[in-house]
Amino acid sequence: MGKPTGFLEIPRVTPTRRPVPERLHDYKEVYNPLAVVTLREQGARCMDCGIPFCHQGCPLGNLIPDWNDLVYRDQWRAAIERLHATNNFPEFTGTLCPAPCETSCVLGINDDPVTIKQIEISIVDRAWSEGWIVPLPPKVKTGKTVAVIGSGPAGLAVAQQLARAGHDVTVFERADRIGGLLRYGIPDFKMEKWKLDRRLAQMEAEGVIFKPGVNVGVDLTAQSLLDDFDAICLCGGATLARDLPIPGRELKGIHFAMDFLPLQNQRVAGDTVTDDPHFTAKNKHVVIIGGGDTGADCLGTSHRQGCKSVHQFEIVPRPPDDRAPFNPWPQWSNVFRVSSAHEEGGVREYSINTKQFLGDDGRVTALETVQVELKTVDGRMQFVEIPGTEKTYPADLVLLAMGFVGPERKGLLEELGVELDRMGNVKADANKRTSVEKVFTAGDMTRGQSLIVWAIAEGRHAAHAIDEALMGESDLPKPLDFGNHNRPFA
Ligand SMILES: Cc1cc2nc3c(=O)[nH]c(=O)nc-3n(C[C@H](O)[C@H](O)[C@H](O)COP(=O)(O)OP(=O)(O)OC[C@H]3O[C@@H](n4cnc5c(N)ncnc54)[C@H](O)[C@@H]3O)c2cc1C
Ligand code: SF4
Repeated sequence: MGKPTGFLEIPRVTPTRRPVPERLHDYKEVYNPLAVVTLREQGARCMDCGIPFCHQGCPLGNLIPDWNDLVYRDQWRAAIERLHATNNFPEFTGTLCPAPCETSCVLGINDDPVTIKQIEISIVDRAWSEGWIVPLPPKVKTGKTVAVIGSGPAGLAVAQQLARAGHDVTVFERADRIGGLLRYGIPDFKMEKWKLDRRLAQMEAEGVIFKPGVNVGVDLTAQSLLDDFDAICLCGGATLARDLPIPGRELKGIHFAMDFLPLQNQRVAGDTVTDDPHFTAKNKHVVIIGGGDTGADCLGTSHRQGCKSVHQFEIVPRPPDDRAPFNPWPQWSNVFRVSSAHEEGGVREYSINTKQFLGDDGRVTALETVQVELKTVDGRMQFVEIPGTEKTYPADLVLLAMGFVGPERKGLLEELGVELDRMGNVKADANKRTSVEKVFTAGDMTRGQSLIVWAIAEGRHAAHAIDEALMGESDLPKPLDFGNHNRPFA
């Protein structure tokens, strides 16, 4: 372990954020790095518990106490090897993961947990800057071919694992660039895209072929892939957004979050996108419906675009500041969090429901709302309106960020005829096989809208299963599924 008395002597330190007035003028990442000496001290806080609950908290089973200790001892090269043993892309998780590992850290029972995520990103940043991360092409090729459909973190993890095992892997992506939600959706101020490009270059050097701009099931039949490849992995994400079918929904100016966020990614990438002024938040009163991370991404983007005002609505009550008794350690803690986007301004409204959109000349101008409370009615928990709490909010732009209801059925899934589970996600067995011969699946497409860390874990699992199916056995590691006890929702 690090320093036996480290956790008694050293307080938790987290990275500072760039000043709000400065960062609102750009789309660069918000967090400052920690000094090496501070990181080593933070690594020293790890108690190397007999049962490291952080392993259970991390869906990848990252070997957290091992690399905490190596950082404390200044052995960074060994630390990145230990980190890459379980995680293909620690720069994605180190930057974007909500860190369920930290809410299950044993030190967190009566003190602040170890700053695991910060140590993770620092190890991989150091490894890239030292030139330790290089392509790892296979020594022997198998002659087997695999098509991966969808290039988000799940598809990328499947592809990298299988290419390293010697298979010829082609990744098909309908967007014009590779990366899934890492590219289009997650704002640049949360993760700058050169981090993604750097990994993609490594993967290309390992032999992965990327084919952007191909919508499988539309531009290319799934049958042609079944004919041409030895196995297929469906990693198309859960892209069907939840709608709000209330009066006024047809008014102009009401958009899904995912019609809004990718446009800003494209602008930052230097693309010329729609010049429709209604598609930005500039000089507008913005209302975001949905209090989760996607809503927070819309909030940060609206501020950067120069909105007049912004409100974020959430139908459930404000979470408590500390864990509630029914939400004990080591579960994911459902507590009030202030993300960097929330720190930048805007008003968060809780226990609020939107009853209708009001408009003028076909465009939205306002929302009519009411406060609600959660009550048991006829034996079921329901949101019940509180009389006299009706209110009108001005709005020129409304962004719907209420989550996703599953993968798109039209096109690819319909053509393949894969069985779906009761939630409408692609059904998979314990080996990530779908109901169709030689078709596997991973990530949000089978799990439902989740997290990057889960997508990578699922991708590694599917790669193991595909390799085993093609070769009769597999040396590729398979993440342990600890049963999803600790799942925060995106
Ligand atoms: C706005 C937003 C912000 C988020 N922020 C975070 C965060 O900060 N941290 C976190 O952990 N998680 C976050 N998430 C969740 C996370 O991004 C997802 O769980 C993760 O990306 C899922 O990975 P995936 O590979 O399964 O699918 P995706 O990343 O959704 O990728 C699927 C890809 O498949 C492509 N595709 C679909 N169908 C076809 C087809 N027929 N042919 C070709 N291509 C196809 C799609 O175009 C897409 O690019 C966020 C989600 C959203 C929407
Ligand atoms: S991937 Fe997420 S859960 Fe796993 S160690 Fe990193 S921050 Fe923690």
